[in-house]
Amino acid sequence: MAGPIPRRTASTMTNRVPPTLPAAVDESRQWARLMGMAMLGEIPGDGVDRAALTLLDRQARRLLIEWATEAGLTVSVDEMNNLFLRHEGLEPGAAPVLTGSHMDSQPNGGRFDGIWGVVAALEAVQAIRDAGLTTRRPIEVVAWTNEEGGRFAPGCMGSMAWSGHSASTTWDGVADLHGTTFRAALEEQMAAEADLPRRPLGPVGAARPSAYIEAHIEQGPLLEADMLDIGVVTGIQGSRWFVVDVAGRSDHAGTAPVSLRQDAVQEMVRIVNALNTLTHDPADVLRFTVGRVEVHPNTSNSVADRVRFTIDLRHPDADILREKGDAIAGTVQAALRHCTATVTERFTAMPTAFQELVPDAVEAAAEALGLRSLRMASGAFHDAQFLVPVCPSGMIFVPSRGGISHHPSEYTSPEQLAAGTRVLAATVWDLANR
Ligand SMILES: [Zn+2]
Repeated sequence: MAGPIPRRTASTMTNRVPPTLPAAVDESRQWARLMGMAMLGEIPGDGVDRAALTLLDRQARRLLIEWATEAGLTVSVDEMNNLFLRHEGLEPGAAPVLTGSHMDSQPNGGRFDGIWGVVAALEAVQAIRDAGLTTRRPIEVVAWTNEEGGRFAPGCMGSMAWSGHSASTTWDGVADLHGTTFRAALEEQMAAEADLPRRPLGPVGAARPSAYIEAHIEQGPLLEADMLDIGVVTGIQGSRWFVVDVAGRSDHAGTAPVSLRQDAVQEMVRIVNALNTLTHDPADVLRFTVGRVEVHPNTSNSVADRVRFTIDLRHPDADILREKGDAIAGTVQAALRHCTATVTERFTAMPTAFQELVPDAVEAAAEALGLRSLRMASGAFHDAQFLVPVCPSGMIFVPSRGGISHHPSEYTSPEQLAAGTRVLAATVWDLANR
């Protein structure tokens, strides 16, 4: 009589990580590649300024393609300029495992946010190949277009269009600070890459992945504080972005009586006070940020006639995010005394929980490699959250020194990054053989 079928557990996974695989992850090759990428858009203090769809972005992509082609991967690009590097599996028609992140940075960004996830994905695939291993499924490395939203807001355009969350034409008219539209920049980039093979946009046919995994720096202090190696990301909190336009009337600062003014700055202060009351959270979980303010005419001796400011609202609970976000427009209108205002929602990403498949595989891989891990949610948004409706998805975090990111001083050591890449390689290899 046959015995019970053994359940697949973390410990059986432990035994399945081939010993040659972690050794094939090349820490110095990965670090050298990251430092090479950091020179494209280098700014003082070890920072990087490499916006999406710029010449620097094109140079970074060419460098990545060069490494990937040398490693034996094939290249393709979709109409959103998402870049794919493919390792063939033993069953070429099987659904691929997809892994990657983004290559653009914040304007005053660091050397690791995004780019490490792409370089690590290539390193993981190369390690699998260098170790002489094969996979049943293909593995595709992806670099998503415009994750940061620093040049063209919002972020995650590449993954939103790919996943079907938004149409690829949604942001055609969005302009950068110089008036260049997203559509124009995208077309320029696609023309510069006309030599690269094209692929259809989205998870269509054999391109629908069996799983997606993204490696990323934590951007928070938890792993460092507990001296842990790996964050097993279980989900991502939700975000809603708004723009508020306040319209008043410009007057002479010396002659116009205060009682007769339509002062857009004073009105903004009243609005922000009211929003602070709306979003006050005794538990300090809700995140409310007014991060950008534009004042017109922005001179010291004129009453402002126009103010535009942004709101970034985040919470891990969908109901609270919905309730507070939906109350913003009404709160703004109720706070007005002398001006008018409009509220526009520019970006919505509801909270996301990853299915167990990928987090479990990450946790098992970390355990197999003798690394200390922690299950945690992500406070920042990532391309991974737009993959969730498409396939089982997840993320691997490595520690961020001081929890700092989106700043030149962002840092993770070569050893910590290599540990993360070993976990990624073991996880991808596991998922690609299921
Ligand atoms: Zn990022």
